[in-house]
Amino acid sequence: MCGIVGYIGKEEASEVLLDGLRRLEYRGYDSAGMVVLNGNTLEIRRSVGKLANLEAHLKKHPLTGHAGVGHTRWATHGRPSEENAHPHRDATGRVVVVHNGIIENYMALKAGLQARGVKFESQTDTEVVAHLVGEAIARRRQAPVPLSPPLFVEAVREALSEIKGTYALGIVSADCPEVVIGARRECPLLVGVGENEFFLASDAPAILSRTRNAIFLQDGDLAVLSREKVLLFSIETGQPIERKTTYLPWDALQAEKAGYRHFMLKEIFEQPRSLEDTLRGRLDINELKVHLDTLKLSEEQIKKFRKMTIVACGTSYHAGLMARYLFESWVQAPCDVEIASEFRYRNPLIGPEDLLVAISQSGETADTIAAVRHAKGKGATTLAICNSVGSTLYRECHGKILTHCGPEIGVASTKAFTAQLAVLYVLALYGALLRGTLPRPDVENIMRNLLHLSRWVGEALKTDAGVAALAKKYFHSRNFLFLGRNLNYPIALEGALKLKEISYIHAEGYPSGELKHGPIALIDEDMPVIAIATQGRVYDKVMTNLEEVSARGGRVIALATVGDTRITALTSGHRLDAGHPRIHGPRGQCGAAPTVGLPHRRPPRL
Ligand code: GLU
Repeated sequence: MCGIVGYIGKEEASEVLLDGLRRLEYRGYDSAGMVVLNGNTLEIRRSVGKLANLEAHLKKHPLTGHAGVGHTRWATHGRPSEENAHPHRDATGRVVVVHNGIIENYMALKAGLQARGVKFESQTDTEVVAHLVGEAIARRRQAPVPLSPPLFVEAVREALSEIKGTYALGIVSADCPEVVIGARRECPLLVGVGENEFFLASDAPAILSRTRNAIFLQDGDLAVLSREKVLLFSIETGQPIERKTTYLPWDALQAEKAGYRHFMLKEIFEQPRSLEDTLRGRLDINELKVHLDTLKLSEEQIKKFRKMTIVACGTSYHAGLMARYLFESWVQAPCDVEIASEFRYRNPLIGPEDLLVAISQSGETADTIAAVRHAKGKGATTLAICNSVGSTLYRECHGKILTHCGPEIGVASTKAFTAQLAVLYVLALYGALLRGTLPRPDVENIMRNLLHLSRWVGEALKTDAGVAALAKKYFHSRNFLFLGRNLNYPIALEGALKLKEISYIHAEGYPSGELKHGPIALIDEDMPVIAIATQGRVYDKVMTNLEEVSARGGRVIALATVGDTRITALTSGHRLDAGHPRIHGPRGQCGAAPTVGLPHRRPPRL
């Protein structure tokens, strides 16, 4: 989800909008655009790529006027291109919209609009909003009566009542140039309050240089900005609402990170949201159906694959390793997982009966792209799992599934990893349903768990202060061992990778059953062991391994399920349950084992 800036006041709107968009650049985007109102006319400028391109475009074809909205896009529907860049217009060209988020039911809405003769100019989900508002205005207004702000608001409310999904919207009409409308549902949007000028922004940095006073819109709020005032209404009831104006104490840099110390931390805390976005609309628990509209592989194709090979690098490779457990167990399909840079230089046995799944956050990982080309050359069908619509992988693979986790700025992948896992779970469920390899109660149970996932992740994140205290205690250690078994083995690998990348501390991930075949010789009080020991089929085995560690004086930090008393008995009993702000009293001796408690859930059937 990218950037929105809106303005109404006395300044040249194009300058304010461009400046605001520039301040949101850090979020990443693939194209940008703006609309500026001038009396009863409006004009749009859009460009692919960097804002400098939009700026150059505006230099050649300047816009004048004192109201408008601008946007930086991170494509979710339709490749990054000029025609897909925002703003989007209705059929009259007089209603214009910018949008962050995903319109879940856009296909049905688009089909309805097309049946009524509406022509579409883009492949985005957003364009339906412009047409729906345009239609609602036409129903309410007998030309040439001017469009009053209340009528405009009613039309927007009517259009939004048809929409399912998430949005932050900026909407203007050339027939009602005295207002700019904002609306929010599950995507951030705020109103900047100036003197005889008001701003709309998806993020505070966009407006900080102009005002420090802001109203944070809540889900279901609609804001009507004019030069003199801002009025707020409930989208659902149309009733006026009050929200307090907040003073923003942040400097621009703090605001970019939403108050977090760095982007990686911000992105870690975005996970509940990014998981929700990634799973949205994909699981239908009532019908026990999985919706993957961009998969573009027929059910027959999926049923017939002989083997599946996952190729990826780094963190994405770990997501692939985890998926293998799911595909083998739920789909009962053979699944290889390969490091892309190795796969491409071997002579892998892959052919037309096989499916190659390529995972990459950016969709631009060179080795993964090369592996896809290699497999395509041998006739295999390819499927991309990535976070960027216009990326090379997305374009080159036969099928595609997007993780909808927004741009990831931190170099070490965090929210993209969990979003990849969410997509892989959904894909495995899809395969299991097609092949009939999972009993219906299991499918229902897994779907229910996935739908709770975002909340559980939010709970687990409440351990942050305690985790920070743990880090303070152990950061002098030069080596770490991460242990896990079964599904938690790839998680152990990923944990070790994160520690190496971020802290420059040597760390290795091991399947805990391998401990006795060598690495146990390294265990002493200077080698902390992080054990992922959640409840499940192999829990007892992991506990045995941890007892071996403890017997050698190793320090164990365990990630366990809330309510696990056995693991605290084995260790020090210092707990750090989700929701507890601190660990109570570090013991600081060999064998001390704080436990990070994860919310309880029924373990997946593996
Ligand atoms: N879903 C919209 C699109 O693909 C908005 C993307 C965004 O949030 O930037 O155009």
